[in-house]
Amino acid sequence: MNLFNLAKKFPTEEHALAYWMKTRWPDGARCLACDHDKCYLIETKGKTGKVARLFECADCGLHFSATTNSLFHDSHLPLQKWFMAISLMVEAKKGISANQMKRHIGVTYKTAWYVCHRIRQAMQEGPNFTVGGPTTTVEIDETYVGGRNRLQGHKASHKGKTAVLVLAEREGQIHMQKMKKHWSWPYA
Ligand SMILES: [Zn+2]
Repeated sequence: MNLFNLAKKFPTEEHALAYWMKTRWPDGARCLACDHDKCYLIETKGKTGKVARLFECADCGLHFSATTNSLFHDSHLPLQKWFMAISLMVEAKKGISANQMKRHIGVTYKTAWYVCHRIRQAMQEGPNFTVGGPTTTVEIDETYVGGRNRLQGHKASHKGKTAVLVLAEREGQIHMQKMKKHWSWPYA
């Protein structure tokens, strides 16, 4: 993944959010509690006056946002920066320190540490998931992370590796896929 293309693909936070929503709910938002498929988009103003977009379940009334119970849960960091952080972590063959992250995405050390921690945790604890959509091919080397040994070639076993949230590029398309199911947050 190259940061230039990432920035081009997500020039604004709106783009990033729209992309995330489509990735999370390809057929439209579903209630996080009852899985109802009718959820209304509502806009509310928070304490800071900033407009928050929430979904309201037509069945159980639950309010949730596109980031609720996801890797980005309860974070004020723009999705654009999260995507960049994920990309950096997936790409960094030797890992990336909070200090490096801080410089790369322009946040405080504390935020950088937290972001690295969350992504790393998701990488380690995420359940397996299917990589690639019907029209997208994703490089396997880029999508499995974790464990001490890097994959040796495409035929290497995935055992012990956990696929995470993937940001991969192929034929000009940027593809991100979240974990398939049972995503829960926070991890204990
Ligand atoms: Zn519901």
